[in-house]
Amino acid sequence: MSELKIIPLGVGDTFSEHNTTASILIELDGFRLGVDCPDSYRRVLTQASKPQNLALDINTIDHMLITHVHGDHMNGLEGFAFWKYFVEKKKTHLYTSPEARADIWDRRLSAPMDRLFDGREFKQMRFEDYFDYRALSWTEPVALGPLRVRTYRTIHHVPTTALLIEWTTGRKTRKLGYSADTAFDPKLIDFFADADLIIHETNYGPAHTPYESLSSLPADVRARMRLIHYPDTLDLSAPSIVPLRTGEIVSVP
Ligand SMILES: [Zn+2]
Repeated sequence: MSELKIIPLGVGDTFSEHNTTASILIELDGFRLGVDCPDSYRRVLTQASKPQNLALDINTIDHMLITHVHGDHMNGLEGFAFWKYFVEKKKTHLYTSPEARADIWDRRLSAPMDRLFDGREFKQMRFEDYFDYRALSWTEPVALGPLRVRTYRTIHHVPTTALLIEWTTGRKTRKLGYSADTAFDPKLIDFFADADLIIHETNYGPAHTPYESLSSLPADVRARMRLIHYPDTLDLSAPSIVPLRTGEIVSVP
């Protein structure tokens, strides 16, 4: 019986004093998918390993999905891909929207990554030298290992993909919704209508979802929802939606 596990690597926002920025690790049948990539990824894995004694290792994570190009969601991709290239001698399997893929190389990573010195000479490097890229489609499901991923374009400053991830366990189809960054969007809640678990962001400002918008959703939706990307100031004493905690193991049987 396949049981999907989610390990939050970071649950905070970019300004947090206490939490790593929002990112999760998804595991099913030995397939591991990172969703968003905070900086110093190996340290992040070590810290997230502590609560459950997990020993998470970057060498066991080859697949990385980036929801959008804001730094708190992809600042670690340079170091992650350099680790794969220099240490493991392999490419990073990268999944993101075509819009984000163009920006990731042309406006984010080409500056630090497109030239390497091998001790004698400089070599010109291309996106393809580091990444094995597969586009996330806005219209069609995409198979990533045992997972099928549908996307939804959220309301955010830059092109951002919310995810509806499906997998089969026994004869049943299970679904995980992941909001990524978004303003409150009832259509996105509808997109997650039959999800077994919904991981939803909350934060301040017009491009994020106020906690009050989520806490006023119907009880059956809130019962299936967990929070991520929350500010340090979120009152965790009696939340009507349970926040994710770094390093816990969330199972979707
Ligand atoms: Zn963002």
